[in-house]
Amino acid sequence: MHLARFPRIQLGHFPTPLEKLDNLTRALGGPDIFIKRDDCTGLATGGNKTRKLEFLAADAVAQGADTLVTQGATQSNHVRQTAAAARKLGMTCHVLLERRVENMGDGYETAGNVLLDDLLQCEYAFRPDGADMNAEAQALVAELKDKGRKPYFIPGGGSNTIGALGYVHAAQELVYQADTTGLKIDKIVHATGSAGTQAGILAGLYAMNTPIDVIGISVRAKRAQQIANVHKLAAATAEMIGARGELPVEMVEAYDDYVGSGYGQPTDSMVDAIALLAREEGIFLDPVYSGKGMAGMIGLINKGILKKGENVVFIHTGGAAALAAYEHLFSKQSAA
Ligand SMILES: *Cc1c(COP(=O)(O)O)cnc(C)c1O
Repeated sequence: MHLARFPRIQLGHFPTPLEKLDNLTRALGGPDIFIKRDDCTGLATGGNKTRKLEFLAADAVAQGADTLVTQGATQSNHVRQTAAAARKLGMTCHVLLERRVENMGDGYETAGNVLLDDLLQCEYAFRPDGADMNAEAQALVAELKDKGRKPYFIPGGGSNTIGALGYVHAAQELVYQADTTGLKIDKIVHATGSAGTQAGILAGLYAMNTPIDVIGISVRAKRAQQIANVHKLAAATAEMIGARGELPVEMVEAYDDYVGSGYGQPTDSMVDAIALLAREEGIFLDPVYSGKGMAGMIGLINKGILKKGENVVFIHTGGAAALAAYEHLFSKQSAA
């Protein structure tokens, strides 16, 4: 594989740091825990979508686009990073926000990521929970074309093969960091949603013939569905980068035990994980993704699936910009 064959525009700060979490390792008493700081990618407070957007935005520019179109949930981190990429490239950004998470109280549709979307002059409109968001976004694309614009459509989460290249690159970057510091990585853990992050990492590891287990903590779909989604995109991405043979489905592992009652709905283990990381390491996780991902990692340590003597890398995929929209959860926490 040779990623320079694919057009890429620099939007973020790379490589992101790979750090040992000494205090968390001590507090949990299990494996040695490391963190890959993809919350520090730099674009408009950062996060995992920046890596995907470097390849997606380059494709948009190659196609002569003047507008980025995408969709996400109200507090989407993907929408915020896409809006920022559009500003840097001198494009406009039109998005649709799904009211996927209900009853979140005041500020949910104005604070956190939505506030940042406003600052980035992102044009957004809301759609009800359960809307066919990719179909709605395609209708928006057609409408913009009628007005003489040149829209480029990015699917939810930036999760297609082009976006997944960002995480092929991340896998390369992580393995290089580990090799140059003498760190033998046993397992990688991260939150998985629209699947592009896990698919890209798996495609990269497969192409490099690097046997590291990758565990996705689902934030929405059931295990079998998430594994199928990740596998489909990972196999297509591996093929695109020229890996030999079909990426085996056995490479894909995901757990759905940490979703709680649904996407974006709080869980006690998420609130505890966010408080723990802030207290032990001074690091902010988010309520929708990385908080549940960390809750999953802690759960797997408690179940003995992640063990003492192993080196586990948690990929911090970002999202803390959404914390302000979940203030009610944490004001209680700090009073306790
Ligand atoms: C989008 C997102 C994820 C999930 O990544 P996918 O590639 O959609 O699976 C995880 N964490 C954060 C903070 C995100 O915004």
